[in-house]
Amino acid sequence: MIETFRFAPSPNGHLHLGHALSALLNLDMARAVNGRVLLRIEDIDTVRCTPDLVSAMLEDLDWIGFDADPPHRRQSEHFADYADALRRLDAMGLIYKAFLTRTEIRHVVAQREAAGRPWPRDPDGAPIYPGDASLLSEKDVAARLAQEEPYALRLDMARALQMAGTLLDWQETGAGPAGESGRVTADASAWGDVILARKDTPTSYHLSVVVDDARQGISHVVRGHDLFHATSVHRLLQHLLDLPAPIYHHHRLITGPDGRKLSKSAGDTGLRDLRDAGWTPADIRARIGL
Ligand code: GLU
Repeated sequence: MIETFRFAPSPNGHLHLGHALSALLNLDMARAVNGRVLLRIEDIDTVRCTPDLVSAMLEDLDWIGFDADPPHRRQSEHFADYADALRRLDAMGLIYKAFLTRTEIRHVVAQREAAGRPWPRDPDGAPIYPGDASLLSEKDVAARLAQEEPYALRLDMARALQMAGTLLDWQETGAGPAGESGRVTADASAWGDVILARKDTPTSYHLSVVVDDARQGISHVVRGHDLFHATSVHRLLQHLLDLPAPIYHHHRLITGPDGRKLSKSAGDTGLRDLRDAGWTPADIRARIGL
């Protein structure tokens, strides 16, 4: 089987040096083994991912020399695939409608913490979802449904782990934030009841990434180590949906002068600004250490 890599950016801002590292590392690793490298446009957020940002992204990738093998996959064209996966998980009894709003979650967490009980956080530092069952009665849920209140679909993590029934792990050829490598044990429970379909869009990052890696025949996932812990959720979903597990390689992040990771939202210098300032693709490679 031909080794297949992918670069999977979300075009909700302009690409920066961190994206360049991910894209070019995928390209170099694929070329080194005569493999393929595919581009996947992760645009499930159809509001923030505008056509202008997608064109700018393609232009930037072309400029740095990321010549992906065809075809490109756009997630916004594959909502039916994600719906299929959701139906399967639903048929297994692993999904529930989650109504709590951000404000309600904040309130519950603040209340418990004020009572001296620390609330568990996920690996990204967000409070674990409290679960509707303990907070909303059947009547509350019926009322919210009748009022057409929006809901997300969440994975019932405890049941999912029970159904998986086995310890999952993955092959890590890069390193996690704490230097984890080799066979790494997955710990999806650390994430609690993750979102599988958002209130505003009928899928989620975790669900679509797992479905697409399988659909595109991805054998190697190379991405920043900010996504290292998410791999635990991905392994669980792959197991539940009978999808193959790729090999994972999490790479270092490019940090700004203040040591924090670059981000589109913090307005870090985009590749196009560097190009306008006279940088060449070779300068980009040198700056990111490739
Ligand atoms: N779309 C994700 C991002 O831009 C990356 C997804 C992945 O590589 O798994 O952060």
